[in-house]
Amino acid sequence: KAGLVGEVFSAVAPHYDLMNDVMSMGIHRLWKRFAVSMSGVRAGHRVLDVAGGSGDLTVQFAKRVGKSGKVILTDINAAMLDQGRRRIIDSGMVSNVEFALADAMNLNFDKNYFNCVAIAFGLRNVTDKKKALAGMARVLAPAGRAIILEFSQPTNLCGLNNIYDWYSFKMIPFLGELIARDRASYQYLVESIRKHPDQETLKQMMLESGFDEVQVYNLSGGIVALHVGFKY
Ligand code: SAM
Repeated sequence: KAGLVGEVFSAVAPHYDLMNDVMSMGIHRLWKRFAVSMSGVRAGHRVLDVAGGSGDLTVQFAKRVGKSGKVILTDINAAMLDQGRRRIIDSGMVSNVEFALADAMNLNFDKNYFNCVAIAFGLRNVTDKKKALAGMARVLAPAGRAIILEFSQPTNLCGLNNIYDWYSFKMIPFLGELIARDRASYQYLVESIRKHPDQETLKQMMLESGFDEVQVYNLSGGIVALHVGFKY
């Protein structure tokens, strides 16, 4: 799986931001803004963005932590991390952002170091999710929060389930072909969404991995869920 995920993200990296806006009709920006608003991050904090890719969360966190804080943008894929690095350098935020090529399953940072650890749309690509969650809990400081934003099990689509399925399995691969000339990668992305643990399963996995409390917020009828993990 790791090899396939690597190939997929190396292929989609140049079109990643555009495709996100097109596929979600811009709504991913609202999901991410909500996630950051629930992070409790403020000036001076240390934040780890896991599987951060082109850096959407990092940009928002960097503004919050200010010059006295620090955000570390990590990703396993050099092409994706490069997108993030270029964007952060272009926006002049380098003073409080660092970059590291890192596997979510092997977070080689000090225990209890970060005030917030975040992963957005990354966990479903990770082979051993419990290992990644345990690592996130380990590096999180007591009273810190883990922010997990991910596609989930729709709970209330107002009868639009067939449209959601059609959009997922027909439109997204079609858009992948049209814009990125890569139907197969977007087919993988859709399939990985359907295989990801639902809200309650992920919550239990987090509790078993070292978090003391987990709050769950359904977004857009549960198409996406935000899990906020607390460590006492
Ligand atoms: N967080 C960014 C966002 O919300 O726009 C990027 C999300 S992108 C859908 C998923 C990212 O997860 C890719 O950049 C990919 O390289 C990364 N990834 C996949 N497996 C990983 C792993 N085991 N460890 C770290 N990053 C991983």
